[in-house]
Amino acid sequence: MNWSEFTKWGARISEWAARYHRDIRSRPVRSQAAPGDTLKALPEHPPETGVPMEAIFDDFERIVMPGITHWQHPGFFAYFPSNATPPSILAEFLSSTIAAQCMLWQTSPAATEMETRMVDWLRQSLGLDSGFEGVIQDSASSATLAAVLTMRERALNWTGNSDGLAGQPKLRIYCSEEVHTSVDRAIWIAGIGQANLCRIPTRGPLRGMDPDALDAAIREDSAAGLRPAGIVVSVGGTGTGGTDPVGAVCDVAAAHDLYVHVDAAWAGAAMICPEFRSLWDGVEKADSIVFNPHKWLGVQFDCSAHFVKSPDDLVRTLAIRPEYLKTHGHDGIVNYSEWSIPLGRRFRALKLWFVLRTYGLEGLRQMIRNHVEWSRELYDMLVATPGFEGVTAPVLSLFTFRYMPEGTTDPDALNLRLVNAINDDGRIYLTQTRVDDALVIRFQVGQAEVTREDVLMAHEVITEIAATL
Ligand SMILES: *Cc1c(COP(=O)(O)O)cnc(C)c1O
Repeated sequence: MNWSEFTKWGARISEWAARYHRDIRSRPVRSQAAPGDTLKALPEHPPETGVPMEAIFDDFERIVMPGITHWQHPGFFAYFPSNATPPSILAEFLSSTIAAQCMLWQTSPAATEMETRMVDWLRQSLGLDSGFEGVIQDSASSATLAAVLTMRERALNWTGNSDGLAGQPKLRIYCSEEVHTSVDRAIWIAGIGQANLCRIPTRGPLRGMDPDALDAAIREDSAAGLRPAGIVVSVGGTGTGGTDPVGAVCDVAAAHDLYVHVDAAWAGAAMICPEFRSLWDGVEKADSIVFNPHKWLGVQFDCSAHFVKSPDDLVRTLAIRPEYLKTHGHDGIVNYSEWSIPLGRRFRALKLWFVLRTYGLEGLRQMIRNHVEWSRELYDMLVATPGFEGVTAPVLSLFTFRYMPEGTTDPDALNLRLVNAINDDGRIYLTQTRVDDALVIRFQVGQAEVTREDVLMAHEVITEIAATL
């Protein structure tokens, strides 16, 4: 394909994209494809000779689109949002065009310096003090892994990377039941072992860890000759928005000299609104914080902001400097590949710059405030509907509920049938989770273009489908 043909296709695809978004309500939210449908439609062998883009594009519509779940659909209330606003898509188009590898300052100085500035814009937006610096990671999972590795190295006096873990003291990491599974995987990969991830009981409506129980567990482990290394704090957990008392947990950590990483992957975006910041009161005492602009802020995957109080600890854990990566004569410059696990890095700061400038913080705050308000409105409506009960009240825009009409004998089976029937219907998309072992239905509002009517329409769909079960 030559570049003049590229211009034609670029225009066609941007028209397609605008039309896709304009007409998206006419599509079922969750793909209705059966397992194997896409695979069957794809030839078993790669082509020996090229085919025209016309044919490829036709096949894209015919083969790919039916197998797509529409995360940008205003009826998408499952998982967490994954938003791609128009300025973000345009910035990604430019990033792809330039295809710069942004591993070192000198491999694209603008990308590094833009990243420094954008992470600091985000820091200010969330109301964090200037004691935090940061980096853009590919995902919250990577940021959490980097934080757990830092905990490990710090607790082993920086000998884990050099000597391995054999013969070292047993490390202990603490968290509640509400943390994301990325924490378990970070523990596995760091070589600490699932058995050393210590779950602290939770209490209260926010299902946050009990700081006294945390303190007791740390003391007990130390007395038994184990080595406490750090704490992973949940702010807005995946299941129900479970949130630990950040300040109190950090105080316990400080008393034992432990490193604290806060996972606010989803909820962090809402901290651009000052009125929601009480959710993570005390966060300035943490060592490391992650939040995903790629969830709720309209900056598409991948873009995960990782703030740290001591970049030196992170770099000491992850930096490696073979001769070919040395940038002689540039002391004092930042090489962000030393702050993260992969060497190669995309130019991710550009889409943040485009999005923050297009909407301004006020525009983004308004979107988040609307989502929170509409979610609360829907929760109140559902709880007032006979046969329905709230299970966990909204944490920001996430709540859970159950369908429990009189005489229900197997509530888990009934609610699973309801979720499946709703998703087969196609107007909205929801997922289930477990709360105290009961199967419940999860609802979150976060799609960038959702309206109040879309959210309230969910009440109609849920009650209408429940009545048919
Ligand atoms: C989504 C989420 C993650 C995982 O985020 P990735 O960027 O996909 O790795 C981790 N923790 C919480 C609380 C999340 O909501």
